[in-house]
Amino acid sequence: MDKPLIVILGAGLGGTLAAYEIRAAVGNRADVMTVSDTDTYSFVPSNPWVAVRWREPEAIQIHLPPVFERKKIGFSAVGARRLHAEEKRLELKDGTSVNYDYLVIATGPDLAFDEIEGLGPQGHTVSICQTAHAADAADAFDAFVANPGPIVVGAVQGASCYGPAYEFALILDTELRRRKIRDKVPMTFVTAEPYIGHLGLDGVGDTKSLLESELRERHIKWITNARVTGVEPDVMHVEEVGEDGAVRKTHDLPFGYSMLLPAFRGVPAIRDIAGLTNPRGFVIVDSCQRNPAFPEIFALGVCVAIPPTGPTPVPVGVPKTGFMIESMVTAIAANIAAILDGKEPAAEATWNAVCLADFGDGGVAFVAQPQIPPRNVNWSASGKWVHLAKIGFEKYFLRKIRRGESEPFYEKLALHVMGIRKLRF
Ligand code: FAD
Repeated sequence: MDKPLIVILGAGLGGTLAAYEIRAAVGNRADVMTVSDTDTYSFVPSNPWVAVRWREPEAIQIHLPPVFERKKIGFSAVGARRLHAEEKRLELKDGTSVNYDYLVIATGPDLAFDEIEGLGPQGHTVSICQTAHAADAADAFDAFVANPGPIVVGAVQGASCYGPAYEFALILDTELRRRKIRDKVPMTFVTAEPYIGHLGLDGVGDTKSLLESELRERHIKWITNARVTGVEPDVMHVEEVGEDGAVRKTHDLPFGYSMLLPAFRGVPAIRDIAGLTNPRGFVIVDSCQRNPAFPEIFALGVCVAIPPTGPTPVPVGVPKTGFMIESMVTAIAANIAAILDGKEPAAEATWNAVCLADFGDGGVAFVAQPQIPPRNVNWSASGKWVHLAKIGFEKYFLRKIRRGESEPFYEKLALHVMGIRKLRF
């Protein structure tokens, strides 16, 4: 008898770990296959370093096919054109199809640069969302340092990823000081957040004071409740909105270099499928990471629909961070294994946020358990140790991906000792 086929769509941070963890959880009871649109894994959290040449792209990338082969996981890098959920079929970009029994969607974000005129690499701002973008941003940075001017960094209305914006602003500050040209570069941080350090999470511990203080000490001005209305080659137009949603002030910010994180939405292959996705194209899941309309479909990572923490004058999304994504992976692996055993899925991810934001010479760390307040653990701290911890984490994570392991036993032990859980039971 044919074994059921479990397909994982996407081989980024979540999809790759999901393939390893599901393979280990289901053993010989099912076949496992990953459909990606590239055969390279890129460690996205290191993209800000690539953009200032602290890392070469190759140093944070892994060629996946040999690892998948070793782990007996089928692999295609053709990419999915369209999901036909009613037929349990993935149509690939070469016209062929894959029929699945279970599907795990891990397609990350589609970057909605087109929602603001002039935004993004096709316009006038650089991006660090993809490693290839970050490599282009490094070329633009080289040109900028030869002819320095103002810098604008931040995250636009509807963005759901704020940590990397702070990281990049502070990394640029560190790099410009090292080059002894910081005095020639006025810097402004522009964000949809209602206050500095909100992070889409209504703050974690004292992130408001910690991040305000970092920006102040480094002479980076900020505009919160900001709505970017358009970007021209060397000037950005920004509306500053009040609590009531009315425009309080407009700013025309000149810049010589700018990186603004865009809003995210679901990728085209899964958008507009009734019952599967919300109007932004994010996959609707229950507490077991399973879609209610198509119970054979699970989803994890940035492509999952999560409501915002609360109303804000300018739309602010909730971030989906690495550890939270790993908790979704663990829940899905346990749930698919349970289904294969004829049981009901019961594993619920904790969605805890454990994050390190690096500034090159220091950083801020935070733990939010659960991610949405009020919380049982609400802790943040700053110091030089965060920079070193992030370097250590990058090496550790890349080693896991290279070895085809999701969570080695010593990681399990360390998390247990720290009281940080991936599952609720
Ligand atoms: P991704 O890693 O983006 O993977 C999605 C994959 O799906 C990609 O490989 C994509 O090519 C593939 N795909 C898309 N469409 C298709 C298709 N049609 N067919 C096949 N494959 C497809 N979180 C932290 O916890 N710590 C950090 O320090 C941190 N830094 C970040 C820095 C940046 C610049 C960004 C943007 C995010 C950061 N995050 C961080 C947040 C989060 O951890 C990352 O965005 C993470 O990569 C998300 O994982 P994912 O698996 O959901 O998506």
